[in-house]
Amino acid sequence: MLRNPGCIGYTLRGNRYINVTNRCTLRCAFCPKFNGTWTVQSYRLRLAREPTADEMVASVGNPTEFREVVFCGLGEPTLRLYEVLETAARLRKLGARRIRINTDGLASLVFGRDVTPDFEDLIDALSISMNGQDARTYNQHCRPRDNVSFASMLKFTSRAREFVPDVSVSAIDGLPGVDVSACSALADRMGVKFRRRELGKVG
Ligand code: SF4
Repeated sequence: MLRNPGCIGYTLRGNRYINVTNRCTLRCAFCPKFNGTWTVQSYRLRLAREPTADEMVASVGNPTEFREVVFCGLGEPTLRLYEVLETAARLRKLGARRIRINTDGLASLVFGRDVTPDFEDLIDALSISMNGQDARTYNQHCRPRDNVSFASMLKFTSRAREFVPDVSVSAIDGLPGVDVSACSALADRMGVKFRRRELGKVG
């Protein structure tokens, strides 16, 4: 059964997810939304407008009921960095146990400064989409507007370790040219965790 369109909060596996924006820095060829699908499991995530911090806090309800609160959706949450940070601070005060951002790792590039210190004491975990073992593979699948995106994502990942206790990167097994072992080795060299994702599995 499909749920209400444009839902702000949604629950998967005991975690509460916050749908922050439809917008993205990247235009990933494998992204469901660029293939006409805005649905994750039964949740319809295409937002009619971006939610305010008040609405994002309200969409969680009681954060102590969830293992984790995750800024996610079918868009890049850090494009709304300041609203995300405000929401995280308020959820923390309400007792959120763990707060994560799923991100493309390009916020420092977008904002033109190193934003990773902003996460200190607010964000417990970052899941960063690495999506390739080198710039050529990354560019093929993520289609960034900017040629420095891959390097910027790696730098963001390394810097984030100083301010966020749990940093991981992920890559999708099954995308042409993506060498998951090489991605995992790169994660090791950066001192962060690696998560292998499966092609076609969203949410
Ligand atoms: S960053 Fe995520 S939401 Fe944005 S285009 Fe890529 S896969 Fe889709």
